[in-house]
Amino acid sequence: MQRRTLLQRLALLAPALLIGRYVSAAANTEAAAETIQALDKAHEAWRSQVSADAYAVLFEENTERSGSSPLNDEHRDGTFVCAACYLPLFDSASKFNSGTGWPSFTQPIAGHVGFSRDFKLILPRTEYHCARCGGHQGHRFDDGPAPRNERWCNNGLALNFIPKTAALPALRS
Ligand SMILES: [Zn+2]
Repeated sequence: MQRRTLLQRLALLAPALLIGRYVSAAANTEAAAETIQALDKAHEAWRSQVSADAYAVLFEENTERSGSSPLNDEHRDGTFVCAACYLPLFDSASKFNSGTGWPSFTQPIAGHVGFSRDFKLILPRTEYHCARCGGHQGHRFDDGPAPRNERWCNNGLALNFIPKTAALPALRS
């Protein structure tokens, strides 16, 4: 009787162990999103490393004129990296034509952007920036294509495009 109870307990325990394993596998996948170490560098120090127009967008939160970026017409396979520190921010696979005149994406590279709330237009928008150098990139909206329904509206001046045929540049500090 005692023995049977023990077996029954083990039988009950087995699925729980399997679930435990499944949950920890899921947690590992989540942890796979890289944690980016933020640079300890004054924004002003980037002034000599990027163009004046790019600086205004990246570190003074300027917005470029709609339709002005050559990246609107960039359709090659590759990676969009931060124009200041070169951290990869978007894969070309997530780029889509939003019709807004700004380079638009359905999602960033996981863990490579940070967020803040922006009340400049009274209605709050979700501002996002490079997780490494803090350079402002654009705003995230929830009217993008399914399934994520996200539209990451980016300033082209804040990005450099690296075609798949070229090596990614080393990160800048
Ligand atoms: Zn950056």
